Amino acid sequence: MSRKVYSNFIAGKWSQAEGKGKFENRNPADFRDVIGVFPLSTTVEVDKAVHAAAKAYDGWRLTPAPKRASIIAKTGELLLKHKEELARLMTREMGKVLKETRGDVQEGVDMAAYVAGEGRRLLGETTTSELKNKLAMTLRMPIGVCGMITPWNFPIAIPTWKIFPALICGNTVVFKPAEDTPASAVRFVEILEQAGLPTGVVNLIHGGPAAGQALVRHPEVRVVSFTGSCEVGREVASNCGRMLKRCSLEMGGKNAQIVMGDADLDLALEGALWGAFGTTGQRCTATSRIYLHHKIYASFVKSFVRQAKKIRVGNGLRSNVQMGPLINEAQRNRVHEYVKIGVGEGAKLECGGRIAKGPGLKNGFFYVPTVFTHAHSEMRIIREEIFGPVVSLMKVKSLDEAVTEVNKSAYGLSSSIYSNDIANAMKAVRDIEAGITYVNGPTIGAEVHLPFGGVKNTGNGHREAGKTALDIFSEWKSVYIDFSGKLQKAQIDTD
Ligand code: NAD
Repeated sequence: MSRKVYSNFIAGKWSQAEGKGKFENRNPADFRDVIGVFPLSTTVEVDKAVHAAAKAYDGWRLTPAPKRASIIAKTGELLLKHKEELARLMTREMGKVLKETRGDVQEGVDMAAYVAGEGRRLLGETTTSELKNKLAMTLRMPIGVCGMITPWNFPIAIPTWKIFPALICGNTVVFKPAEDTPASAVRFVEILEQAGLPTGVVNLIHGGPAAGQALVRHPEVRVVSFTGSCEVGREVASNCGRMLKRCSLEMGGKNAQIVMGDADLDLALEGALWGAFGTTGQRCTATSRIYLHHKIYASFVKSFVRQAKKIRVGNGLRSNVQMGPLINEAQRNRVHEYVKIGVGEGAKLECGGRIAKGPGLKNGFFYVPTVFTHAHSEMRIIREEIFGPVVSLMKVKSLDEAVTEVNKSAYGLSSSIYSNDIANAMKAVRDIEAGITYVNGPTIGAEVHLPFGGVKNTGNGHREAGKTALDIFSEWKSVYIDFSGKLQKAQIDTD
């Protein structure tokens, strides 16, 4: 199997880091497969990359937005052209099944189309003035160099959510992808380069926490956009806070699905299985708590467990596989630790709870789909993000009780209700504390033209995707144009 040496991309050149530090990236479905060796960048490389981005800033911000948009549109076309190759690389790199990695690339394609349209909008407002012969308007202005720090679970989609809106607003970028998916990031940056992005506008730095910290703390980085764990997000936010820089955070979730007695139960079952075990439960929007109306509780649990046991676990490159491995050994150990905690806390393990064994599984980080019942909101398995194929099913007497339980979480990203009663659905939409609520759909499945993000510990009030993404990467400028030919004093010349 190939073992490639990869580089950083700084000022339009692929280059190695000065230090000797390197890290390997391995296939989680078969850890004997080394995808590549990557530079462990330090402050030296981060500094060079930020300088390159700062140098490119004036040229890029003064490029007309429709021209910037045409490069983003071209990037989208190239992502589509290379969809299969990118999807295969991504599956090899992070394990989710091909159907899902194709969807990941498609999300980037959709984002390119959506953001490219903004090139001919980036709308501000024109408004009246309280004074005669005066006009007022607002303009979106770029901010400068943006530092993008991304996780591994959506190796193409998440970078496009950040980089395309930043670019359309006229900013330049230093991109630090997760250590588990650097090869997908390289292919994405190669495609940006191929689409005609000028030198220095996007720079790529490989590495771990040290590179991320250096980027966050660099004085010339004006915006930090971070997606990852709550723990790291807090540190990023406090560093940004001290330096008074803009910081947008997308973090963890503990997403819940409610199923009412009047729901289409087959539909709810299918949605629950997809929400809980899609991407091996490693989505920020994955379903990890399911609240079932007591009338349907017993039958739903029975069907859910029966179906969970049938899920085919294996290498995501194989067409019959439904669920791939966990991202790495540490994550599998963490998931297994949580299962033990759940059992220790008194939850009932209905199925799974163990490392998956069988033909083709020995060399990967596979885990069996795991279902708990008899869990409650005080337990750590209900409060903390596990980020694996582990879900708990709980009984509730009413919608009110379900919503109260859902809202006990410290997180507030995604949520879902299955009900054929419009009143139930609308109450859930109104009362659940989350950034996203699906009615008769699972907790996963966001579309790029709607705001994406969460409340409480999931974020800090920003929203990616949709037109709200532009608010992260632009500053408003208010412009007053006085054509009266004399000094007019606001609030003073009132006649
Ligand atoms: P992580 O927090 O460990 O790492 C995320 C990124 O931060 C990586 O690139 C990492 O190298 C970097 N990093 C690590 N320490 C840093 C530091 N001290 N300073 C700056 N950067 C640092 O998260 P992960 O394990 O890659 O991803 C899983 C987490 O991401 C989960 O909690 C999941 O819920 C969350 N996530 C959230 C969303 C969302 O939109 N809300 C989407 C996907 C994933």
